[in-house]
Amino acid sequence: MKQDRKHYLIVGSGLIGRLLSWRLLLSGHTVDVLSRDDQQGSDSAGFVAAAMISPATEAITTEAMVQQIGMKSLALWPQWLAALPETVFYQNNGTLVVAHAGDQAEMQRFKRRAEHTLVADDFELLEHTQLADKEHQLAEQFDQALFFKDEACLDNRHLYRLLTTFLNEHDLCRWQQCAEIDQLTVATIALLSQQHFNQNSTDYDAVIDCRGNGAKQDLAGLRSVRGEVIRVKAPEVNFKHAVRLIHPRYPFYLAPRPNNEYVLGATVIESDDMSPVSVRSGMELMSALYSVHKGFAEARILEMAVHCRPAMVDNMPTIKRTEWGFQINGFYRHGYLFAPAIITDLLMILEGQQEQLNFRKFYNV
Ligand SMILES: Cc1cc2nc3c(=O)[nH]c(=O)nc-3n(C[C@H](O)[C@H](O)[C@H](O)COP(=O)(O)OP(=O)(O)OC[C@H]3O[C@@H](n4cnc5c(N)ncnc54)[C@H](O)[C@@H]3O)c2cc1C
Repeated sequence: MKQDRKHYLIVGSGLIGRLLSWRLLLSGHTVDVLSRDDQQGSDSAGFVAAAMISPATEAITTEAMVQQIGMKSLALWPQWLAALPETVFYQNNGTLVVAHAGDQAEMQRFKRRAEHTLVADDFELLEHTQLADKEHQLAEQFDQALFFKDEACLDNRHLYRLLTTFLNEHDLCRWQQCAEIDQLTVATIALLSQQHFNQNSTDYDAVIDCRGNGAKQDLAGLRSVRGEVIRVKAPEVNFKHAVRLIHPRYPFYLAPRPNNEYVLGATVIESDDMSPVSVRSGMELMSALYSVHKGFAEARILEMAVHCRPAMVDNMPTIKRTEWGFQINGFYRHGYLFAPAIITDLLMILEGQQEQLNFRKFYNV
C-alpha cells in the first residue's frame, strides 16, 4: 500500500469529516483534519442527531431513492462498526409507527404512501396482540402499529468518541482546530495548510470539504434546516424498537440508547437559527413523548439540543469536484442513513474507480 499512499486534507470534523478520515486512514492514506469544531464534535449536526437509520419510513415521506441508498448503508453499518475497538450500541430491531386516535387520517395517508413507495414485504400492520408481543409497553397506549423491519439506530455519541480516539492516536493523522473557514480557494487552502500543518497545499492529493452548513459560500443552493431534539433517561420505559409517532407537524421519532435513554426528535424548520430550543418546540416534543407512554412522565431531561441539517434543493446528498478537490454535502435529515453508502462512492472516486459508483446521478465529478 505504501507506494499508493495519498495525502488528504479534510475540512470539517462532523459526521462526514470524521467518518471519511477514519476510512481513508484504514485504507493506509495520510490525513490532515482541519475544523472549527472541538474534538468532541459538539458543533456538528451529527453530534445532536437521533442517528436513526430508517430507509423505509424516510422514503415514504421523501422519495423512493432514499430507500435504495439507505439499504446500502444499512448493510454497511454493521461492517463499519465491527472495525471499531468497542461495541457501539446498534439496534436493528426495526421501527414501529403509531398514531393517536386524532391522527388516524394522517396514519392512513402514511400507510397509503408506504403501499405506493415500498414493496409489501417491507412492512406489516400489527394488530393489538401482535403489537403487545413485540413491544408490550406500546400496546398499553396504541391498538395498532405499522412495523418496518429493516430499520436501525445507533449511539452516535459513542461512535464520535471512538472516532476521536482513533484519529488522535493514528500516526498518519494530524488534527487541528481552526477559526471559521468561510471560503475554500486555492489561495486560502495554501495559507491554511502552511499555518496549521506547515505543509505545502500542492502536496495534497485532494482537499475534501466536509463543512456541512459551513460551506454555503462555496456551494450554491445549500441551505440549513433547523432541528430540535430532547434526550431523556426513562427507567420505566424499555422499548426495544425505534418508535415513530405520526404527527401533523413533524416526523417525531424516539430513538433508543443504552441504559433506558432515548432521543426524541425532531422538529424540521426552514431556518439557519441555531438559538436554543423554543418553548413551543419543547412543549410539542415533550407532550409527544408523554403521549407515547406514561412512564416518560418520570423521565429526566438530560439535554435539549439544536442543530441545523445541511440540505440541497432536492434534499439529497451531493459530491462535487472543484479545482482543489471535492465537496461532499447535503445530507439533510439523512447523515447516518446515507453516510456509509455515499462515502463508499467518494472513496471509489478517489481511487479512480468511477465506473463502480452506486449513486452517480447525485454527483458532479
Ligand atoms: C436534530 C437533528 C436530528 C437528526 N437526526 C438524524 C437521524 O436520525 N438520522 C440521520 O441519518 N440523520 C439525522 N440528522 C442529520 C445528520 O446529523 C446530518 O445529515 C449530518 O450530521 C451531516 O453531516 P456533515 O458532516 O455534513 O455536517 P456536520 O455533522 O454538521 O459537520 C460539519 C463539521 O464542519 C465544521 N464546520 C462547519 N463550518 C465550518 C467552517 N466554516 N470552518 C471550519 N469548520 C466548519 C463543524 O464544526 C462540524 O464539525 C439529524 C440532524 C439534526 C440536526
